[in-house]
Amino acid sequence: MTTTQFSSEERNRYKAKAYAAANANSPLASITIPRRDPGEHDVQIEILFCGICHSDLHTVRNEWSAIPTVYPCVPGHEIIGRVNKVGSAVTKFKPGDIAAVGCLVDSDGSCPECQAGFEQYCHNMTLTYNSPDVHLGGVTYGGYSDSIVVKDHFVLRVPSNLDLAGAAPLLCAGITTYSPMRHWGVTKGKKVGVVGLGGLGHMAVKIAHALGAHVVVFTTALNKKEDALRLGADEVVISRNTDQMRKHEGSFDFILDAVSAEHDINSYLRLLCRDGNMTLVGAPDKPHAVAAFSLILKRRSLSGSNIGGIAETQEMLDFCGKNNITAEVEVIPIQKVNEAYDRLSKADVKYRFSVDMASLKSQ
Ligand SMILES: [Zn+2]
Ligand SMILES: [Zn+2]
Repeated sequence: MTTTQFSSEERNRYKAKAYAAANANSPLASITIPRRDPGEHDVQIEILFCGICHSDLHTVRNEWSAIPTVYPCVPGHEIIGRVNKVGSAVTKFKPGDIAAVGCLVDSDGSCPECQAGFEQYCHNMTLTYNSPDVHLGGVTYGGYSDSIVVKDHFVLRVPSNLDLAGAAPLLCAGITTYSPMRHWGVTKGKKVGVVGLGGLGHMAVKIAHALGAHVVVFTTALNKKEDALRLGADEVVISRNTDQMRKHEGSFDFILDAVSAEHDINSYLRLLCRDGNMTLVGAPDKPHAVAAFSLILKRRSLSGSNIGGIAETQEMLDFCGKNNITAEVEVIPIQKVNEAYDRLSKADVKYRFSVDMASLKSQ
């Protein structure tokens, strides 16, 4: 076969073990799913660890009206594994290599976004799960599985010094916080705020600290102070304390807002200096109210950011390798995933669950 485009009938498939939700209300349970046999540009990966992202929970429960969930749904886009097999045209990987897959497994490669290395903004990108699967029909299945087959361009190399369970969350939480900080010029000497110390926020603190910034964590929970300092924060501000907040007015170069619950963003915008930027990576259900003067008075800007491109994700992994940065994880067997979801919905995790996929073998 000379073409790389396969119709769903042409492509041979094999069976993989996975955990899936059958509908928006059912717990995740063991299932067998089809995976394509690797084509010439494909990498087949035995999955070792998969992080549990808040998006997994939202998708499983069909909470995003813009992207309705197709069931069965196999979530997971923080994937670390060992290369099992590569196609004949793959040069970047060989069997035995440690490799990673994040939120994207394909894009058109030809639009201006892809050409510029911003695959995450491509109109035709294929998400790692719950996106139409051009190879097999149906939708793509994510990392709560014993294996996955992904086009080589979307497979990342993992620095050998990183703990693999802790490295998995870098593929979403890590790049989601790294990308806007790089875009908005967070470097040594800059003053950076991080709003919310959860899965994303704790990565932001570690990365901003390693970039050399002066890091201030905003939290509502006084009991997170010690942890924030241990993770690399220079200061912790209790956001309800208006005196503490006022002291920082007009002083921040950049603030990353990782909170998905409703909150007043004007109280943070006022803390930005002239030309300072605040980037949203959390997505509350209701629209934010923005007072125009919060922006006008010091030419401040408010923006959003969505994960990162493939080249930038590799850059982030290499940066984390150099600085020995991984997520703080609680490693669980796949059989505990439903319990983990319950705890995640109550923000009861420090700071990410990472599923040890060896547990799926005994299933
Ligand atoms: Zn995610
Ligand atoms: Zn594109």
